[in-house]
Amino acid sequence: EIILEALDLEYHYPDGTNALRKINLRVKRGEKVAILGSNGAGKSTLFMHFNGIYQPCSGSVRYRGQKISYKNKDLIELRKKVGIVFQDPDSQLFSASVYQDVSFGPINLGLLEETVVSRVNQSLAATETMDLEDKPTHLLSYGQKKRVSIAGVLAMEPEIIIFDEPTAGMDPRHSQEFMQLLEKLSKKGITIILSTHDVDLAYSWADRIAIMYKGEVIADGEPGELFIRP
Ligand code: ADP
Ligand code: ADP
Repeated sequence: EIILEALDLEYHYPDGTNALRKINLRVKRGEKVAILGSNGAGKSTLFMHFNGIYQPCSGSVRYRGQKISYKNKDLIELRKKVGIVFQDPDSQLFSASVYQDVSFGPINLGLLEETVVSRVNQSLAATETMDLEDKPTHLLSYGQKKRVSIAGVLAMEPEIIIFDEPTAGMDPRHSQEFMQLLEKLSKKGITIILSTHDVDLAYSWADRIAIMYKGEVIADGEPGELFIRP
């Protein structure tokens, strides 16, 4: 079952930069997809289309076979289903304390208070940030911010989580811990898409790898099918 797809998706920035050229990509429910590509390949721009932050210049994005509608109320629904963890956690954390930050999304959904509390607690536990709940977000270390920004997305209980270069700058130990978290999310049935420069990581983790180069998907397949020139 295809959960998310880009069809002949094209996007150029207002300054004329051609960031995406006829992108075709299909993601199945429960799949683990790695998007490999160097800086500037278009990975982040593509991700911004997957939850409707950007609107294609031509082509379309479909969620469960339905073309995304860019009406406000439909976008709110889409963003419950498709969560993005941005590369820079500072762009994602804006509340005073960790607890406030992680509870912001669920409160906005209008959930019962006990549901909010239980979602926040589960998300903090999953990211091992329980002990930080009263801490001001601006006092956290980079790694802590990263984990809290993930907790904020988990608390929305999305079907799909997109991670923009999640392991960039991580040492091997943190990177491994992060991959273990991904494995747990995947076992729960969450569809995961991540971008990375790390060929080994993509090979060992992904069900499917798409390689982007200068705004195009130049290869797409199971790790075993793809030949990657180092
Ligand atoms: P990646 O995530 O693979 O590093 P991006 O999606 O960030 O790639 O960038 C794709 C292309 O779009 C690059 O050429 C980049 O310079 C350009 N780009 C990204 N953001 C902007 C922007 N706000 N305005 C103009 N060009 C941009
Ligand atoms: P923790 O407190 O969770 O151990 P750290 O702050 O020590 O987290 O960092 C976690 C990971 O993030 C480490 O792998 C580290 O290399 C990386 N990291 C720390 N600061 C930065 C930064 N400014 N930019 C990119 N990566 C960073």
